[in-house]
Amino acid sequence: MPSAERHRPGADGQLSGKQGQILWVEVPISDPQANVSGTFLKRKIPFFHLNDGTFAGLVGLDMEDPEGSQELSVHISTQAGTEHRSYAILVIKENYTVQKLTLPKEKVDLDAKTLKRVKAEQKEMAGAFHHTNTDPLWNGPFLEPVNGKITGVFGSRRIINGQPRRPHSGEDIAAPKGTPVLAINSGTVSLAVDHFFSGKGVVLDHGLGVFSMYFHLSEINVRNGQPVQKGEAIGKVGASGRATGPHLHWGVRVNGSRVNPFALTTLPLKG
Ligand SMILES: [Zn+2]
Repeated sequence: MPSAERHRPGADGQLSGKQGQILWVEVPISDPQANVSGTFLKRKIPFFHLNDGTFAGLVGLDMEDPEGSQELSVHISTQAGTEHRSYAILVIKENYTVQKLTLPKEKVDLDAKTLKRVKAEQKEMAGAFHHTNTDPLWNGPFLEPVNGKITGVFGSRRIINGQPRRPHSGEDIAAPKGTPVLAINSGTVSLAVDHFFSGKGVVLDHGLGVFSMYFHLSEINVRNGQPVQKGEAIGKVGASGRATGPHLHWGVRVNGSRVNPFALTTLPLKG
C-alpha cells in the first residue's frame, strides 16, 4: 500500500520511502516568519509554517527516482541570517507490474499532424505544473475522486501493441460513464482541456506544489482559474481521448514528482 508517513529528520535517523511515495517532512524552526525552501534531486520543495516551532514540506519520490541515499537540502532565511541543513533520504525501489494493452494502430503509431498536436499538448500540460500557490489550499485530508475498480495501477510498465511504452503515471479507476468525479481537495483549476491522449481533462492546484489530474472525462464542469471546494463534482467519468472504456485516470504531482495518488490520502492532515 502507498503511504505517507510523518517524518522528523534528526530524531530517528535517516528518512526513507519507496519510489512513488510522499514524505511529509517536518523541520524545527523557531521563527514563524522564516522563509524555508528545500531542494531534492534538483526539484524545489516549498515549506510552510505548520505550527509553533515547526515548518512542513512534501517531498514526492518520483516513480523513477534513482535508488539509494539522496540529499534533501533545506535553506532557512530569517532576519537573523541564513542557515542550511542537509538530510539524507533513502529511495527504495518499488516493484512495478507489467501491463499489456492492445489499442487501435492509429492511437499508437501517430501520423505527423497528430504527433505535432500531441507535442503541443504535452507542453501545455507541463506548463500547468509550473505555477503553484506557495501556501496549502487544501482543507483537511485528501479524498478519492471516484469509487470503482482499479484497472490500471500506478507505475506499471506498459507494453502497447507489443512495444514497450512510458510507465503508467496514475491510477485507472473504472466506473460507469457519467459517474461524478470529485475534487480530492480544495484548490484552483490549473487547466481544463481536451487532449488527444488524455481526452477531456482537469488539473487542480492544491497549493504547495501539489497537483491532481483527472483524465478521459465525458464532461468538464469547471473552468481555468476557478476555485473549487473539496468534494465538488468537477466532471464526469468517460472514455474521451485514448481509453479502452469508461474510467478515470487519476494522477498526482508533488513538486514535480509523479507519485502514487493514493499516497495523498494517507497524509497526516487533520480536519
Ligand atoms: Zn491511466
